[in-house]
Amino acid sequence: MAGSNEWESAVTQFRKAADILKLDESIIQFLTSPRRIINVSIPVRMDDDSLKVFQGFRIQFNDLRGPTKGGIRFHPDVDMEEVKSLAFWMTWKNTVVDIPFGGAKGGVICNPKELSQNELEKLSRGYIQEMYQFIGPEKDIPAPDVYTTPQVMAWMVDEYHKFTGHNVFGMITGKPLEMGGSHGRDIATAQGGVFVLEEALKKFGIKNPTVAIQGFGNAGLTAAILLAKKGFKIIAVSDSKGAIYDEKGLDVDKVIAHKNKTKSVVGFSGKELSNEELLELKCDVLVPAALANQITDVNANNINAKIILELANGPVTPQAREILFKKNIMSIPDILANAGGVTVSYFEWVQNNIGYAWSKEEVETKLKVKMIEAFDNVYKVYKEKNIDMGTAAYVFAIEKMDKILELRGIKKIHR
Ligand code: GLU
Repeated sequence: MAGSNEWESAVTQFRKAADILKLDESIIQFLTSPRRIINVSIPVRMDDDSLKVFQGFRIQFNDLRGPTKGGIRFHPDVDMEEVKSLAFWMTWKNTVVDIPFGGAKGGVICNPKELSQNELEKLSRGYIQEMYQFIGPEKDIPAPDVYTTPQVMAWMVDEYHKFTGHNVFGMITGKPLEMGGSHGRDIATAQGGVFVLEEALKKFGIKNPTVAIQGFGNAGLTAAILLAKKGFKIIAVSDSKGAIYDEKGLDVDKVIAHKNKTKSVVGFSGKELSNEELLELKCDVLVPAALANQITDVNANNINAKIILELANGPVTPQAREILFKKNIMSIPDILANAGGVTVSYFEWVQNNIGYAWSKEEVETKLKVKMIEAFDNVYKVYKEKNIDMGTAAYVFAIEKMDKILELRGIKKIHR
């Protein structure tokens, strides 16, 4: 299963940074051990009246910086090891952008494409019924992730309402605007990525770049829209069925219309490529916005981009980051590149807590400040230590966490 590769990558990357910081082995053990693992069975009465039991997970990895935070993934291939890696990454992502959250992640093994709306609703509500006691605005705050939507969040917050007898909007983020959601949350992952990408482009002195995007889900599609709006040339996009390529640039609006009609970008005009070929295209910016382990030591040497924006979680392995660094290709790590999503989730939670909604412009301005600050902090370590941006992000985050371990007295604990 993919999950174990991801965990191996996650720990390899962490250890690389921990070694630079000469972190004690006991602290490495502590920081790579999840605090709490919750495994539930969710029974759902299906439309044909049969009973199906789904497996659900939640891992609350680290809560030293605040309540744990991270999305819930509905996917047929999700497993506990994958959720563990994702929860671990959330911990460091939240630290890099300096929002007061720890890291968590959830998952349910299911194929949402094969479920009716009714079944999907029952499953979403079932997840909350089983997890109710472990989550909450001060404990652990879920959000959307792969194949979970604002509608799923709405069902979940409504289910939580049944237990408390009143609305607790801050128990989950990524909600629809009408139900305590925040302006800008829907586009936040891509928007945050665009802000850091613009900083990287300045460092490289690149103007009007060509861009190839792998993945056309929420993050990839929104990135295509935002980057095209800036006048960048989107030369290739892909989804799970394949990729399309046009060196003169694709008309993003038309590609979206085609995808809405046919369920895939494939078949739109232009040349067809495989997902693997897309990754190796000559372009200025490559945006892996699908799943993990796409750029590894096997294909890193064939990458022809100048900057990689890791919008997915874990798309570039630590070994690949090292190879790319040696080729002078900057891979902006996931825990920085895609942190815009959870940052606006944080804004949503703050707005729920204070009971006041910010405008779209306010959210965007605040997000920009956070993302640029995080980029600058990581870039500084990258320059100072002459290490790849992935390792630099971890060095920056682990140093912050280490200070907290000291303040909390954890370095002295003898249990
Ligand atoms: N699932 C998103 C991520 O991987 C967002 C998490 C959140 O908003 O809590 O960062």
